[in-house]
Parts: sequence; C-alpha cells; structure tokens
Amino acid sequence: MATRAHQRSVPSPAAPAEPGRSPVYLDNNATTPLDPRVREAMLEAMEIVGNPSSSHAAGALARAAVENARAALAALLNAAPTEVVFTSGATEANNLVLKGLAGGGGRRRVVSCPTEHASVLRPLEALGRQGFDVRYVPVGRDGVVDLAALAEAVDDDTLLVTVMAANNETGVLAPLEEIVELAHARGALVHTDATQLMAWGGLDTVRVGVDLASLSAHKFHGPQGTGALYVRQAARAHLLPLLEGGGQEGGLRSGSLNTTGIVGAGVAAALAATDGAAAAAAVAARRDRLHALIDEHGAVELNGSRTARAPGTLNVTFTGIDPGSLAGAGVLFSGRSACSSASSAPSHVLTAMGVEPQRARGAVRLSLSRFTADADVERAGAALRDTAAGLRG
Ligand code: PMP
Repeated sequence: MATRAHQRSVPSPAAPAEPGRSPVYLDNNATTPLDPRVREAMLEAMEIVGNPSSSHAAGALARAAVENARAALAALLNAAPTEVVFTSGATEANNLVLKGLAGGGGRRRVVSCPTEHASVLRPLEALGRQGFDVRYVPVGRDGVVDLAALAEAVDDDTLLVTVMAANNETGVLAPLEEIVELAHARGALVHTDATQLMAWGGLDTVRVGVDLASLSAHKFHGPQGTGALYVRQAARAHLLPLLEGGGQEGGLRSGSLNTTGIVGAGVAAALAATDGAAAAAAVAARRDRLHALIDEHGAVELNGSRTARAPGTLNVTFTGIDPGSLAGAGVLFSGRSACSSASSAPSHVLTAMGVEPQRARGAVRLSLSRFTADADVERAGAALRDTAAGLRG
C-alpha cells in the first residue's frame, strides 16, 4: 500500500498521466526519470535497518546490498569492485579528484578544457589560487578538444589531465584513448567526468585506460544524490580524502553509506549496461528525427559536433529566437546546463567553441533518454517548429 501511495504522489514528466497534454520532458541531461525497477529496489532497500559498517547481522544485510550495487557499478566501468568509491554524486567525485590529488604534493601542473562542468572548473580555479599551474586546452568549433594543443600542454610536471567524456550541454565526446596515451607517456594521471556517458552502456576503463572517472546515478535513471568515483588501484595512493571520519570507502570517503541510494544506483547501473547500451542507436535516431522536425527550412543551427556526440543530446539555436519564448511549446528543456541556467551570460561551453554570443544565448539543449518515445519526439518537434514559426511571424 505504502508503495502505491508513494508512486502516486511523485509526478513523472516522462510518463504523462494524460498523454498529449502534459509537457514532453526533454531535459534528461539535467536528470533522468527513475526506472520503475530502480524505484522498486529502493523501496525494498528502505526496509533495511542496519548500517553497512555495523558488524552484526543487520549491518551484514545492508553491507551485502551495498556490495551488490558496487559490483554492478564496477561492471558498468569494467573495473574491480574495490575501485568504486561511493559519493553523493559527480560534483563530489570531481572535487575528490581535484582537491584530493592536490594534497599529495609532487607535480604541479593540471591540464583541462574550458568546456568542463562547473564542478571541475571551480575546483581548478581553487587549485590555481593555491599555486598550481592550471592549463586550459582549447576546443575546436565542434567542441572537440585540440589534441595537438593538449600534447603541448602536458609536460613532465603534469599531475593530472582531466577532460569530460561527454559534454552536458552539447553531448560532444572526448577522444579519451588518445588523451590517455599522451598523458601516460608523461607520467600524468587521467581523470574523466563520465557523468553524461554512463547511460549509454558505461565506460570501459580497461580499454580507455583512464585512472579516475566520475559518475552520478540520476543521469542514468538512478536516484539523485548518489554517485561514485572510479579510482584505478594504482592511482589510489595519490588521493587524499575530502571527508574524514569513520574511514568508510577505504578511508577515501567517510560517512555512513546511503544504502537506499546506493542500491538504486546499482540497479540503474545494471540496466544502463543492458537496456542503455541496447537503446543507444535508437535514441540517436530519435534525436536526429527531432532535429529534422525542427530544422524545416534551416530554422536551427546545430551547436557542436554532429558525429562525435552522445546519443541523447541535441544543442541547437533557433535563429533569431529567444529560448524563453519557446516555453509555450509544451516542451521541458534547458537553455544551457541546469546548474547554470539562472545566469543570463552565454554558455561558457559554446563561448569556448567560438560560437557568437547572440547564437550562444539562443541555444536550446534538448536531451532524450531511453524512455523518450517516438510519439514524444513527434509532438515536441512539431510544437517547437510551429511555435518558432509563429514567433517569426
Ligand atoms: N558533471 C556533469 C557533466 C554533469 O552533467 C553534472 C550534472 N549536471 C555533474 C557533473 C554534477 O552531477 P551532480 O549534480 O549529480 O553532482
């Protein structure tokens, strides 16, 4: 009974109660709806009484649930379970990498890109104030990092190279294997913020070779407030914790574990590995169909690479139209990253790509998930196209 009452009380924009009337949710890069199977597992996990750190039977039960989830996340990363450190999300994972490595001493240069998420950029600024030599490698007009410039920036004093796997505004993918090759040749560690990649089958840390990777469960149909940092065994000794206390997570992240959130993250990870990977091509096709619908007579300009792109993301500018005036179309989207949408400044990502301020200010980020149906795409595409046409008069 409690389960049903709970389900009824949670509005779900991805599953409208009145099809055809509620808005179409196209803001999945901000957060994805919970997979019903994740919700089910979390409701069960809420009944677990023990603290996973307790040595009695109730603690063992909670610990088993947490370790089960850790194994699922490890599988999504092709990693060992001991290489997964649970955090409150990607923001904390990114901060743990940047601030945790900085405390270790030694090398003083950190290399990144101007298109990173704020949870990488702000800690980088803090490192700069502490005297680290922080270098920002430019990206091209397509949003892809300039590998030649990166090769020049990485020297024998470089501690870390951090480049996001998939950009949250444009979906643009990084050539991670090439980045790892040139960074490792100089003895530098490589971190990637893989938050926007995980939904599509995860990140193969063995094949790609990164040393550290951040993720957040709510970007792949898990709960908000739970994430993880992948730490390659060999990189662990370089990291110092941000949070000290009871010594959980091998001393890297103290604090009682969020058993319910972690169980949800684990089920979401297992589903991302199967359903997410299987859906990627179909989602990309729906994304392209949406683009074709709104691009009638060249009404929109695509921002970022068309090809090197995560399947769910479409970043466009409706030429000459303020994104705010598209609100009446009945589509939920972001003008830019959800974390920065209060600001009226043009997106730092598009600005770094050399997109003109007016076009950058007009950018609209439409993002799909594996739950976005063909009918959602048809309705949203037609509504956006017609609203834009009406605004143009
Ligand atoms: N990195 C990227 C690329 C993101 O898209 C987000 C979420 N906007 C984050 C980090 C932060 O994730 P969280 O808010 O879950 O900590």
